[in-house]
Amino acid sequence: MEKALAVFQSLASDLLADEKVNPVVDYIPADQLFDQLDLSLVDQPIDDETHLQKLKELVMASPRTATNAFFNQLYGGRNEKAVLGELLAVLLNNSMYTYKAAGAQVGVEKIVLRKVCEIIGWDESADGTFATGGSMTNFMSMLMARDAFNSKIRFAGVQQKMTVYTSIESHYSIPKNASFSGIGRNNVRYIPVNKVGEMIPSELNKAIAKDIEDGFYPVMVNVTAGTTVLGAFDNVEEIDAVCKKHSVWIHVDGAYCGSVIFSEKYKHHLKGLENVDSFSFNAHKMIGTPLTCSIIVVKDKKHLRDSFANDAEYLFQTDEDEFNPGKTSLQCGRRNDALKFWTLWKSVGTKGLEKIVDHQFDLADTARDYVRNHPDYQLYSYDDSISVCFNYKNISAKDICTKLNEHAELMVGYGRFQEDEFIRFVTINAQNSHDDILLFFKKLENFVAEHFTELEKDKSICEKC
Ligand SMILES: *Cc1c(COP(=O)(O)O)cnc(C)c1O
Repeated sequence: MEKALAVFQSLASDLLADEKVNPVVDYIPADQLFDQLDLSLVDQPIDDETHLQKLKELVMASPRTATNAFFNQLYGGRNEKAVLGELLAVLLNNSMYTYKAAGAQVGVEKIVLRKVCEIIGWDESADGTFATGGSMTNFMSMLMARDAFNSKIRFAGVQQKMTVYTSIESHYSIPKNASFSGIGRNNVRYIPVNKVGEMIPSELNKAIAKDIEDGFYPVMVNVTAGTTVLGAFDNVEEIDAVCKKHSVWIHVDGAYCGSVIFSEKYKHHLKGLENVDSFSFNAHKMIGTPLTCSIIVVKDKKHLRDSFANDAEYLFQTDEDEFNPGKTSLQCGRRNDALKFWTLWKSVGTKGLEKIVDHQFDLADTARDYVRNHPDYQLYSYDDSISVCFNYKNISAKDICTKLNEHAELMVGYGRFQEDEFIRFVTINAQNSHDDILLFFKKLENFVAEHFTELEKDKSICEKC
């Protein structure tokens, strides 16, 4: 093992050094991947030196998500404290189903969940768990909503025509989960949004009323805290009022921006959160822990148990259920995702988490100011979002993003809202400075000057019209 750790240390040092010089890895077209890299698996073993060589080639060829040139997804950066926790979780390899197998680590998970509940304003009757990602925590919420609506479904299966509601801008896990839960993709109602991308509560109310009239049973409303493209926050309070009126479960999908609960300045975006039934957020997004670190909490913990407990005598042999988190989990064996979050939180305190969140909004302000003050840019997004959406010189966003990646300059993605397609620049890496944000624009502008002829710019404009 000592030798493997030394190999790890050496690979890590090589990677960290190279990232500084080459923040974007050389692009390998997918159809050339197996020609450019030896990923083959054969019958005979290889010696350790060759093995190390192969590992190094692989590590060096992988996309770099921790540098100041990665803005492609809703995560980024590399928080050293959280990475330390993650490495320890791998080393310890506790499975988070029982106190017997995970011991002190159960305490780590419990304390993180307890603190999150406390911050929301929930008492001891609230609890939560970790799952493998935001899609899965959203899935858990839908299952709990379904079972809370009719507890017999767990045994008899789905027999009623149920419906769920979410905004047209929400995450694609909602229709997938409707399919998994037996509710059905056709029974997802997509509620329109206003011009800043937030669900319109009166439209929700209309949709629910109509379904009831048509003989459907509305079971859940999904509120998005940070929509995938614009980073918009649905209005929790107003949507909650509609849900309470019709007695429908309300879940807040905060996978992207739910971590604003840690910020005095930005938690107003989730005003009324204490009244919802369930809430999920990804610490691997705004908090910056390694993937994945996804939390769901419920106001009344009985729902976790009702939907996810299953007696298994071979497994649950000791200790109080309170210390056997397998009783409230989607999985059986489960990796320890809490430790990386705890390791970071322990180090920086709740105030430190707040700083991480606030800094991302500051970086977004810098980016928005830049876009507003430069006439070659057009801005599509709004204040208080860490997704800064814009176009540059009317060039197709898709063209720019693809070429930037192929030339190993920057990794950034594009998105669409209503009629517009644009570059979506996400300032989620809290290790970036204001200068890193300005460097992004400089690189973008230099790249366009070098790689886009006047002709291409014209062509791009025409493609749009
Ligand atoms: C990222 C995201 C998800 C999915 O989370 P995963 O961890 O990627 O499964 C769900 N909802 C929203 C709003 C997201 O941004």
